[in-house]
Amino acid sequence: MAYIKINKSNLIHNLNQIALKTGSVDKIAIVLKDNAYGHGVGKVGKIARDFGIKKAVVRNYEEAKEIEELFDDIIVLGGTLIPSPKLSYAINSIEKLILCPEGTRIELKIDTGMHRNGIMIDEIEKATQTIKDKNINLVGIMSHFASADELGSEWFYQYKNFQRAKEILKSFGFENVRSHIDNSAGILRTKEFKEDLVRVGIGAYGCNPMDRTFDYVELKPVMSLFAKKVSTRKLKKGMRVGYGGEFTTPKEMMVSTYELGYGDGWRRGDTKNPYATPDGKKILGRVSMDLISLEGDDNEVCIMEDANIAAKHFGTISYEITCALHANIHRVVVD
Ligand SMILES: *Cc1c(COP(=O)(O)O)cnc(C)c1O
Repeated sequence: MAYIKINKSNLIHNLNQIALKTGSVDKIAIVLKDNAYGHGVGKVGKIARDFGIKKAVVRNYEEAKEIEELFDDIIVLGGTLIPSPKLSYAINSIEKLILCPEGTRIELKIDTGMHRNGIMIDEIEKATQTIKDKNINLVGIMSHFASADELGSEWFYQYKNFQRAKEILKSFGFENVRSHIDNSAGILRTKEFKEDLVRVGIGAYGCNPMDRTFDYVELKPVMSLFAKKVSTRKLKKGMRVGYGGEFTTPKEMMVSTYELGYGDGWRRGDTKNPYATPDGKKILGRVSMDLISLEGDDNEVCIMEDANIAAKHFGTISYEITCALHANIHRVVVD
């Protein structure tokens, strides 16, 4: 079987680095959507809670229910709107706002330039009217950066738009509304943090999305992936391994089969450019649904210890690598 180790000290190290940026753990909302980016929502949630984090962000009501006991304050990004005292819902459009039941706690999302979600700045007045008429509980104003991880001017432009949106909201009488726009890259690239909270996902999991900058924050990967051996065989030179026989032994070789495959959410990849484990073992031939072949006869092999490296190999981002690993892979917390 495959299993995942969750390194508790590394997670705490990352949360600490982020707390140093925000100035307080109270300003951290840990993003636990999609099984905590594949790390295991219950286990990560508990470590974050024990570290002192009281706020979390999830995708929908169902995810919120899984961690409700652990946190005081949960931001729900989408899904069906079911009012609940600890939850506040990101509202992405006037249409959605109109559908809010009276008293629903909401975070009004503003489109400051990503053009994916949120109301436009000139719709704020209409939104405040609806909020007043329907007696909706406006808890926060939020936005999202399109490219905080790329050093360019877009970040400044969106940040400025967000400040303007906050001013407009204030002018309609909403004074005590919390504000948040930063994701991991947003907080990692700034020296001054003036918002009320940061919604931090990938940074907590130790994959710094930023290139090395003048003020680089060293983060440590939290997830490592292992696979256990099923069987070993000694092959002569010229024997072919796996589906399609795409790997041919160049010499006499000990080859073992390990329990991990695309059925677990691991990448099938390309046999012409095989993935190599941190120890430099290349996957031999095609990845099967639940098996891979590697040289040697170790009882278990570390397949990945830094999702950033795997992401580079497969031409994607670390988020996709970790999120794809199925929830039924056993996760163990190690110190
Ligand atoms: C996923 C998400 C985040 C977290 O982003 P990271 O880059 O993982 O820190 C923050 N805000 C919103 C709205 C998100 O959807």
